[in-house]
Amino acid sequence: MVMVFCQQANGELHKVGLELVGKASELGRDLNAPVTAVILGNDIRHLAPILIQHGADRVIIVEHPLLEAYNVDLHTKALFEVIEHERPEILLLGATQLGRELAPRLAARLKTGLTADCTNLEIDPETKLLLMTRPAFSGNLMATIVCPSHRPQMATVRPGVFPIPTPNPQRHGEIVEFKVRISLEDTLLKLEDVILKVKRDADISNAKIIVAGGRGIGSKDGFETLKELAELLGGTVAGSRAAVENGWIERDRQVGQTGKTVRPKLYIAVGISGAIQHLAGMQDSEFIVAINKDPDAPIMKIADLGIVGDWKQVVPRLIKSLRKLTD
Ligand code: FAD
Repeated sequence: MVMVFCQQANGELHKVGLELVGKASELGRDLNAPVTAVILGNDIRHLAPILIQHGADRVIIVEHPLLEAYNVDLHTKALFEVIEHERPEILLLGATQLGRELAPRLAARLKTGLTADCTNLEIDPETKLLLMTRPAFSGNLMATIVCPSHRPQMATVRPGVFPIPTPNPQRHGEIVEFKVRISLEDTLLKLEDVILKVKRDADISNAKIIVAGGRGIGSKDGFETLKELAELLGGTVAGSRAAVENGWIERDRQVGQTGKTVRPKLYIAVGISGAIQHLAGMQDSEFIVAINKDPDAPIMKIADLGIVGDWKQVVPRLIKSLRKLTD
């Protein structure tokens, strides 16, 4: 069995779960094994059909009032009970903040290995082992890791790495309720209150249009111009690590190996050279435009459209033309 932990919050699935269910279906086909999705929470039954439509053969629903809000101790214990009972061959989790907390704790309890932040997952046709590929040595090398002696073979994958499969409303699957034994004695954490942080278009990994700036932008003010372009296009701004380290843009808007993986319809890279660690986070974008004064910048090699020039001249002209179109 290929198992996927699908995180939800307030009754809504995180998209990484759907992406992983899609990938798990491919792995399941190669292994001739079913795909089981696991969801934890309270009052979450309505999510099961969505997971089945996206490729799950079975959905295990774990409902408990103590799982309503996320608690790392209780979620770890509940998931551990499910895994011990089901004994999957493979277990996939999203490399979200929550997944990054749960996965190593589970791996330690299960006495198995964990390959974090995978960029590809495949089944070895001969050994039937899961081949877990991820960047190593600052992204200069891709390492393929196997876990031959322990089960489950565990991997985390960042959101946006795999596409969300097209849902099929005709698909049928089994829905199973699983009772876990958890109590407040299982946790040292005491949840006082949950305050939702409302921040408009904060998650760049969901954006359809991204205007990203790099060191070439030169200042925080420069990013205001990029913001203007992004707003006119109905998109959002992001940046390279150099831009983040200069304090020109927030850390949660960094694209790349140590930032977020994005695959928007349009990615405009402005003053970004295209280092391998940056490309790792955006190269699957549908259409890439690069604006750079250096025609030999590596970003030009993967761009669908390259504009060679000073962004201070190119971007204001773009803004002016777009304003004319929208006025
Ligand atoms: P630069 O490489 O300095 O490029 C600036 C570009 O701007 C140049 O191509 C230049 O020609 C152009 N330019 C300058 N002025 C203008 C102008 N006026 N008009 C137009 N173009 C202009 N980087 C990331 O982005 N994301 C990551 O997640 C990430 N993770 C990393 C993890 C590790 C372990 C390591 C070692 C590095 C990581 N990096 C990451 C850093 C990465 O290697 C690069 O240093 C970084 O991406 C460079 O950012 P940049 O392209 O903005 O700057």
